[in-house]
Amino acid sequence: MTSHFLVVGGAGFIGSHLVAGIVSGGDHCTVLDNLQTGHLAAVDPRASFILGDLADPVTLDTVLASQRWDGVFHLADLSLVGESMREPMRYLTINPGNAGRLIDACIRHGVRRLVFTSSANVFGNADAAPLDEDTPMRPASAYGEGKFIVERMLQWAERVHGLQFACLRFFNAAGADPGGRLGEAHQPETHLIPLAIDAALGHRPPLALYGDDYATPDGTCVRDYVHVSDLVSAHLLAMERIEQSSVHYNVGLGRGYSVREVIESVGRIAGCTVPMHCAGRRAGDPAWLIASPSRIMRETGWRPRFTSLDEIVESALIWRRNHPQGYETAALQRSLLA
Ligand code: UDP
Repeated sequence: MTSHFLVVGGAGFIGSHLVAGIVSGGDHCTVLDNLQTGHLAAVDPRASFILGDLADPVTLDTVLASQRWDGVFHLADLSLVGESMREPMRYLTINPGNAGRLIDACIRHGVRRLVFTSSANVFGNADAAPLDEDTPMRPASAYGEGKFIVERMLQWAERVHGLQFACLRFFNAAGADPGGRLGEAHQPETHLIPLAIDAALGHRPPLALYGDDYATPDGTCVRDYVHVSDLVSAHLLAMERIEQSSVHYNVGLGRGYSVREVIESVGRIAGCTVPMHCAGRRAGDPAWLIASPSRIMRETGWRPRFTSLDEIVESALIWRRNHPQGYETAALQRSLLA
Protein backbone atom coordinates (compact mmCIF):
# COMPACT_ATOMS: atom_id res chain seq x y z
CA MET A 1 0.00 0.00 0.00
CA THR A 2 1.37 3.42 -0.88
CA SER A 3 1.84 6.02 1.83
CA HIS A 4 1.51 9.80 1.65
CA PHE A 5 4.12 11.77 3.57
CA LEU A 6 4.38 15.48 4.35
CA VAL A 7 7.95 16.82 4.14
CA VAL A 8 8.28 20.18 5.88
CA GLY A 9 11.39 21.84 4.48
CA GLY A 10 11.34 19.61 1.39
CA ALA A 11 12.93 22.29 -0.82
CA GLY A 12 16.14 22.39 1.23
CA PHE A 13 19.36 20.41 0.82
CA ILE A 14 18.49 17.24 2.75
CA GLY A 15 14.73 17.70 2.26
CA SER A 16 14.88 17.78 -1.54
CA HIS A 17 16.93 14.58 -1.61
CA LEU A 18 14.42 12.98 0.79
CA VAL A 19 11.46 13.98 -1.39
CA ALA A 20 13.15 12.43 -4.44
CA GLY A 21 13.78 9.27 -2.40
CA ILE A 22 10.14 9.03 -1.30
CA VAL A 23 8.61 9.44 -4.75
CA SER A 24 11.23 7.19 -6.39
CA GLY A 25 10.21 4.50 -3.90
CA GLY A 26 6.60 4.73 -5.14
CA ASP A 27 5.07 6.68 -2.24
CA HIS A 28 3.32 10.06 -2.44
CA CYS A 29 4.84 13.20 -1.05
CA THR A 30 3.73 16.76 -0.37
CA VAL A 31 6.26 19.48 0.41
CA LEU A 32 5.54 22.41 2.71
CA ASP A 33 8.29 25.02 2.47
CA ASN A 34 8.52 28.81 2.81
CA LEU A 35 11.35 28.95 0.21
CA GLN A 36 13.34 31.26 2.47
CA THR A 37 16.41 29.10 1.97
CA GLY A 38 15.02 26.29 -0.20
CA HIS A 39 14.68 26.06 -3.98
CA LEU A 40 11.52 25.25 -5.87
CA ALA A 41 13.61 23.82 -8.68
CA ALA A 42 14.97 21.25 -6.22
CA VAL A 43 11.51 19.82 -5.46
CA ASP A 44 10.89 16.65 -7.44
CA PRO A 45 8.07 17.38 -9.95
CA ARG A 46 6.30 14.16 -8.89
CA ALA A 47 5.70 15.72 -5.43
CA SER A 48 3.01 18.31 -4.61
CA PHE A 49 4.25 21.66 -3.37
CA ILE A 50 2.65 24.06 -0.88
CA LEU A 51 4.21 27.44 -0.21
CA GLY A 52 3.76 28.14 3.49
CA ASP A 53 5.43 28.96 6.75
CA LEU A 54 5.33 27.08 10.04
CA ALA A 55 4.88 30.40 11.80
CA ASP A 56 1.38 30.52 10.31
CA PRO A 57 -1.00 28.24 12.28
CA VAL A 58 -3.79 28.64 9.70
CA THR A 59 -1.63 27.20 6.90
CA LEU A 60 -0.57 24.35 9.16
CA ASP A 61 -4.14 23.48 10.10
CA THR A 62 -5.29 23.66 6.49
CA VAL A 63 -2.49 21.38 5.29
CA LEU A 64 -2.82 18.83 8.06
CA ALA A 65 -6.63 18.72 7.81
CA SER A 66 -6.58 18.34 4.02
CA GLN A 67 -6.04 14.55 4.00
CA ARG A 68 -4.77 11.56 6.01
CA TRP A 69 -0.97 11.71 6.42
CA ASP A 70 1.00 8.52 7.04
CA GLY A 71 3.82 10.51 8.58
CA VAL A 72 5.51 13.90 8.73
CA PHE A 73 9.21 14.66 8.23
CA HIS A 74 10.36 17.94 9.81
CA LEU A 75 13.52 19.39 8.25
CA ALA A 76 12.65 23.11 8.24
CA ASP A 77 15.04 24.97 10.50
CA LEU A 78 17.40 27.87 10.62
CA SER A 79 20.57 25.80 10.52
CA LEU A 80 23.76 27.83 10.85
CA VAL A 81 25.82 27.33 13.99
CA GLY A 82 27.84 30.54 13.50
CA GLU A 83 24.76 32.67 12.84
CA SER A 84 23.07 31.20 15.93
CA MET A 85 25.90 32.58 18.08
CA ARG A 86 25.31 36.07 16.69
CA GLU A 87 21.49 35.87 16.92
CA PRO A 88 20.78 33.32 19.68
CA MET A 89 17.28 34.60 20.51
CA ARG A 90 16.21 34.26 16.87
CA TYR A 91 17.32 30.62 16.87
CA LEU A 92 15.77 29.91 20.27
CA THR A 93 12.40 31.37 19.39
CA ILE A 94 11.94 30.50 15.71
CA ASN A 95 13.13 26.87 15.58
CA PRO A 96 11.45 25.58 18.77
CA GLY A 97 8.38 27.78 18.14
CA ASN A 98 7.87 26.41 14.63
CA ALA A 99 8.46 22.83 15.75
CA GLY A 100 6.03 23.26 18.65
CA ARG A 101 3.28 24.48 16.30
CA LEU A 102 3.93 21.59 13.91
CA ILE A 103 3.91 18.97 16.69
CA ASP A 104 0.72 20.44 18.13
CA ALA A 105 -0.99 20.41 14.72
CA CYS A 106 0.12 16.78 14.14
CA ILE A 107 -1.44 15.79 17.46
CA ARG A 108 -4.70 17.63 16.77
CA HIS A 109 -5.04 16.15 13.27
CA GLY A 110 -4.26 12.56 14.21
CA VAL A 111 -0.80 12.22 12.62
CA ARG A 112 0.82 9.29 14.42
CA ARG A 113 4.46 9.48 13.25
CA LEU A 114 6.94 12.35 13.03
CA VAL A 115 10.64 12.17 12.07
CA PHE A 116 12.64 15.17 13.21
CA THR A 117 16.01 16.12 11.73
CA SER A 118 18.01 16.94 14.82
CA SER A 119 21.77 17.50 14.95
CA ALA A 120 25.06 16.39 16.48
CA ASN A 121 25.13 19.90 17.93
CA VAL A 122 22.84 18.75 20.76
CA PHE A 123 25.98 17.22 22.28
CA GLY A 124 28.29 20.25 22.38
CA ASN A 125 31.95 19.90 23.16
CA ALA A 126 33.21 16.34 22.81
CA ASP A 127 36.52 14.55 22.45
CA ALA A 128 37.78 12.02 19.93
CA ALA A 129 35.48 9.24 21.18
CA PRO A 130 32.47 8.59 18.91
CA LEU A 131 29.22 9.88 20.43
CA ASP A 132 26.49 7.35 21.09
CA GLU A 133 22.92 8.08 22.12
CA ASP A 134 23.72 7.87 25.84
CA THR A 135 26.15 10.81 25.64
CA PRO A 136 24.89 13.67 27.84
CA MET A 137 23.47 16.56 25.83
CA ARG A 138 25.18 19.89 26.54
CA PRO A 139 24.71 22.06 23.45
CA ALA A 140 27.57 24.49 22.74
CA SER A 141 25.55 26.75 20.42
CA ALA A 142 22.10 28.31 20.34
CA TYR A 143 21.41 26.19 17.25
CA GLY A 144 22.16 23.00 19.20
CA GLU A 145 20.13 24.26 22.17
CA GLY A 146 17.11 24.81 19.90
CA LYS A 147 17.37 21.22 18.61
CA PHE A 148 17.63 19.97 22.19
CA ILE A 149 14.45 21.84 23.17
CA VAL A 150 12.55 20.28 20.25
CA GLU A 151 13.78 16.80 21.21
CA ARG A 152 12.35 17.40 24.71
CA MET A 153 9.03 18.62 23.24
CA LEU A 154 8.73 15.39 21.29
CA GLN A 155 9.19 13.37 24.46
CA TRP A 156 6.27 15.21 26.04
CA ALA A 157 4.19 14.79 22.89
CA GLU A 158 4.75 11.04 23.11
CA ARG A 159 4.18 10.83 26.85
CA VAL A 160 0.92 12.79 26.86
CA HIS A 161 -0.48 12.21 23.36
CA GLY A 162 1.20 9.02 22.13
CA LEU A 163 2.92 10.66 19.11
CA GLN A 164 5.60 8.28 17.82
CA PHE A 165 8.78 10.14 16.87
CA ALA A 166 12.37 9.77 15.72
CA CYS A 167 15.11 12.29 16.48
CA LEU A 168 17.91 11.85 13.95
CA ARG A 169 21.09 13.58 15.10
CA PHE A 170 22.83 14.19 11.82
CA PHE A 171 26.49 14.87 11.82
CA ASN A 172 27.80 16.73 8.75
CA ALA A 173 25.50 16.31 5.74
CA ALA A 174 27.45 16.58 2.50
CA GLY A 175 27.69 15.36 -1.10
CA ALA A 176 25.06 15.41 -3.83
CA ASP A 177 22.54 13.19 -5.58
CA PRO A 178 24.55 10.67 -7.66
CA GLY A 179 21.96 11.19 -10.44
CA GLY A 180 23.28 14.76 -10.77
CA ARG A 181 19.95 16.61 -10.38
CA LEU A 182 20.23 17.75 -6.77
CA GLY A 183 23.02 19.28 -4.71
CA GLU A 184 23.95 21.71 -1.96
CA ALA A 185 23.16 25.37 -2.70
CA HIS A 186 22.77 27.47 0.41
CA GLN A 187 22.37 31.21 0.13
CA PRO A 188 24.63 32.39 1.66
CA GLU A 189 26.85 29.30 1.65
CA THR A 190 28.69 28.74 4.93
CA HIS A 191 29.56 25.03 4.77
CA LEU A 192 33.07 23.75 4.41
CA ILE A 193 32.83 21.36 1.46
CA PRO A 194 30.95 23.62 -1.01
CA LEU A 195 33.11 26.61 -0.03
CA ALA A 196 36.35 24.63 -0.47
CA ILE A 197 35.12 23.35 -3.86
CA ASP A 198 34.17 26.85 -4.99
CA ALA A 199 37.57 28.18 -3.89
CA ALA A 200 39.26 25.36 -5.87
CA LEU A 201 37.15 26.12 -8.97
CA GLY A 202 37.89 29.85 -8.67
CA HIS A 203 34.19 30.69 -8.11
CA ARG A 204 34.84 32.27 -4.71
CA PRO A 205 37.70 33.86 -2.80
CA PRO A 206 40.17 31.63 -0.89
CA LEU A 207 38.66 29.54 1.87
CA ALA A 208 38.96 30.88 5.44
CA LEU A 209 40.00 28.03 7.76
CA TYR A 210 38.28 28.71 11.09
CA GLY A 211 40.80 27.88 13.76
CA ASP A 212 43.99 25.80 13.69
CA ASP A 213 44.62 25.74 17.44
CA TYR A 214 42.06 23.15 18.58
CA ALA A 215 43.11 20.13 20.64
CA THR A 216 43.00 17.80 17.62
CA PRO A 217 45.88 16.09 15.75
CA ASP A 218 46.36 18.90 13.20
CA GLY A 219 44.73 21.69 15.22
CA THR A 220 41.59 21.91 13.04
CA CYS A 221 38.07 20.73 13.90
CA VAL A 222 37.13 17.13 13.22
CA ARG A 223 33.71 16.25 11.78
CA ASP A 224 31.91 13.12 10.62
CA TYR A 225 30.78 13.77 7.01
CA VAL A 226 27.88 11.65 5.81
CA HIS A 227 26.46 11.56 2.29
CA VAL A 228 23.04 13.14 1.85
CA SER A 229 21.70 10.01 0.07
CA ASP A 230 22.61 7.97 3.16
CA LEU A 231 20.68 10.48 5.28
CA VAL A 232 17.66 9.86 3.04
CA SER A 233 17.78 6.13 3.76
CA ALA A 234 18.18 6.91 7.49
CA HIS A 235 14.98 9.02 7.39
CA LEU A 236 12.99 6.35 5.58
CA LEU A 237 14.15 3.55 7.86
CA ALA A 238 13.43 5.67 10.95
CA MET A 239 9.88 6.34 9.74
CA GLU A 240 9.34 2.57 9.45
CA ARG A 241 10.99 1.83 12.77
CA ILE A 242 8.82 4.20 14.82
CA GLU A 243 5.83 1.97 14.13
CA GLN A 244 7.37 -0.05 16.99
CA SER A 245 8.69 2.69 19.32
CA SER A 246 10.08 6.22 19.33
CA VAL A 247 13.84 6.41 18.74
CA HIS A 248 16.90 8.64 18.94
CA TYR A 249 19.67 7.87 16.44
CA ASN A 250 23.10 9.37 15.89
CA VAL A 251 23.79 9.25 12.17
CA GLY A 252 27.30 9.46 10.77
CA LEU A 253 29.99 7.16 9.43
CA GLY A 254 31.74 6.79 12.77
CA ARG A 255 34.91 8.28 11.30
CA GLY A 256 36.12 11.87 11.59
CA TYR A 257 38.05 14.07 9.17
CA SER A 258 39.75 17.33 10.08
CA VAL A 259 39.16 20.57 8.16
CA ARG A 260 42.66 20.18 6.71
CA GLU A 261 41.87 16.62 5.56
CA VAL A 262 38.71 17.90 3.85
CA ILE A 263 40.71 20.61 2.08
CA GLU A 264 43.26 17.99 0.94
CA SER A 265 40.46 15.74 -0.33
CA VAL A 266 38.92 18.61 -2.33
CA GLY A 267 42.36 19.41 -3.79
CA ARG A 268 42.93 15.75 -4.71
CA ILE A 269 39.55 15.38 -6.45
CA ALA A 270 39.66 18.80 -8.14
CA GLY A 271 43.28 18.28 -9.21
CA CYS A 272 44.59 21.54 -7.74
CA THR A 273 45.55 23.20 -4.48
CA VAL A 274 42.62 24.82 -2.65
CA PRO A 275 43.41 28.51 -2.10
CA MET A 276 42.98 29.17 1.63
CA HIS A 277 44.13 31.19 4.62
CA CYS A 278 43.95 30.61 8.36
CA ALA A 279 41.34 32.68 10.20
CA GLY A 280 40.20 32.78 13.82
CA ARG A 281 37.85 30.29 15.43
CA ARG A 282 34.12 30.46 14.64
CA ALA A 283 32.03 30.78 17.82
CA GLY A 284 30.06 27.66 18.77
CA ASP A 285 32.25 25.12 16.91
CA PRO A 286 33.10 22.03 19.01
CA ALA A 287 36.58 20.59 18.28
CA TRP A 288 35.30 17.05 17.67
CA LEU A 289 31.98 15.63 16.49
CA ILE A 290 32.06 11.97 15.51
CA ALA A 291 29.03 9.69 15.57
CA SER A 292 28.70 6.20 16.84
CA PRO A 293 26.06 4.90 14.39
CA SER A 294 25.82 1.43 15.97
CA ARG A 295 22.26 1.84 17.20
CA ILE A 296 20.66 2.85 13.90
CA MET A 297 22.66 0.12 12.13
CA ARG A 298 21.58 -2.52 14.62
CA GLU A 299 17.91 -1.53 14.91
CA THR A 300 17.10 -0.58 11.31
CA GLY A 301 19.80 -2.25 9.20
CA TRP A 302 20.98 1.19 7.96
CA ARG A 303 24.26 0.90 6.02
CA PRO A 304 25.90 3.95 4.41
CA ARG A 305 26.68 3.49 0.71
CA PHE A 306 29.25 6.30 0.62
CA THR A 307 31.95 5.29 3.05
CA SER A 308 34.89 7.53 2.14
CA LEU A 309 35.32 11.29 2.23
CA ASP A 310 36.70 11.31 -1.34
CA GLU A 311 33.48 9.72 -2.70
CA ILE A 312 31.38 12.32 -0.86
CA VAL A 313 33.53 15.21 -2.09
CA GLU A 314 33.51 13.86 -5.64
CA SER A 315 29.70 13.83 -5.82
CA ALA A 316 29.59 17.40 -4.47
CA LEU A 317 32.25 18.55 -6.93
CA ILE A 318 30.40 17.08 -9.94
CA TRP A 319 27.25 18.97 -8.92
CA ARG A 320 29.07 22.28 -8.35
CA ARG A 321 30.85 21.97 -11.70
CA ASN A 322 27.52 21.40 -13.48
CA HIS A 323 25.60 24.03 -11.46
CA PRO A 324 28.02 26.89 -10.82
CA GLN A 325 25.08 29.22 -10.03
CA GLY A 326 23.20 26.70 -7.85
CA TYR A 327 19.60 26.01 -8.88
CA GLU A 328 18.12 29.15 -10.28
CA THR A 329 18.00 32.89 -10.10
CA ALA A 330 15.43 34.66 -7.93
CA ALA A 331 13.57 35.60 -11.13
CA LEU A 332 13.26 31.95 -12.16
CA GLN A 333 12.04 31.04 -8.67
CA ARG A 334 9.30 33.70 -9.02
CA SER A 335 8.31 32.45 -12.48
CA LEU A 336 8.07 28.84 -11.21
CA LEU A 337 5.76 30.05 -8.45
CA ALA A 338 3.54 32.08 -10.80
N1 UDP B 1 34.79 25.68 8.36
C1 UDP B 1 35.91 26.42 7.97
N2 UDP B 1 35.73 27.37 7.00
C2 UDP B 1 34.53 27.62 6.42
C3 UDP B 1 33.41 26.85 6.81
C4 UDP B 1 33.58 25.90 7.80
O1 UDP B 1 37.01 26.24 8.48
O2 UDP B 1 34.45 28.52 5.54
C5 UDP B 1 34.95 24.67 9.41
C6 UDP B 1 34.04 24.91 10.62
O3 UDP B 1 34.65 25.78 11.54
C7 UDP B 1 33.84 23.48 11.14
C8 UDP B 1 33.93 22.62 9.89
O4 UDP B 1 34.55 23.42 8.89
O5 UDP B 1 34.91 23.14 11.99
C9 UDP B 1 32.56 22.19 9.38
O6 UDP B 1 31.75 23.36 9.31
P1 UDP B 1 30.38 23.40 8.51
O7 UDP B 1 29.88 24.82 8.58
O8 UDP B 1 30.56 22.81 7.15
O9 UDP B 1 29.42 22.42 9.30
P2 UDP B 1 28.98 22.41 10.86
O10 UDP B 1 29.97 21.52 11.56
O11 UDP B 1 28.95 23.81 11.37
O12 UDP B 1 27.61 21.80 10.84
